[in-house]
Amino acid sequence: MATYAYRCPACGTFDETRPMGEAPERVACPRCAASSPRQWTAPLLAQMNPALRSALAREEKSQDAPEVVVRASGTTRR
Ligand SMILES: [Zn+2]
Repeated sequence: MATYAYRCPACGTFDETRPMGEAPERVACPRCAASSPRQWTAPLLAQMNPALRSALAREEKSQDAPEVVVRASGTTRR
């Protein structure tokens, strides 16, 4: 299952949980039943704290391009 975001013109955004790849373009708003278009955003990324987002990006990057410490700071290389 995946969560998809929709935006009701009257009530604002809401989430619908649907099987992956089976989200319709429009669904009825759970509050007022108005036809609501799907939002093409990444809701979890938008809500995520920027520091956490950059930490996750850094973690993902480190899987194939780790940042390696060559020498301790303040020491000279011989
Ligand atoms: Zn509504």
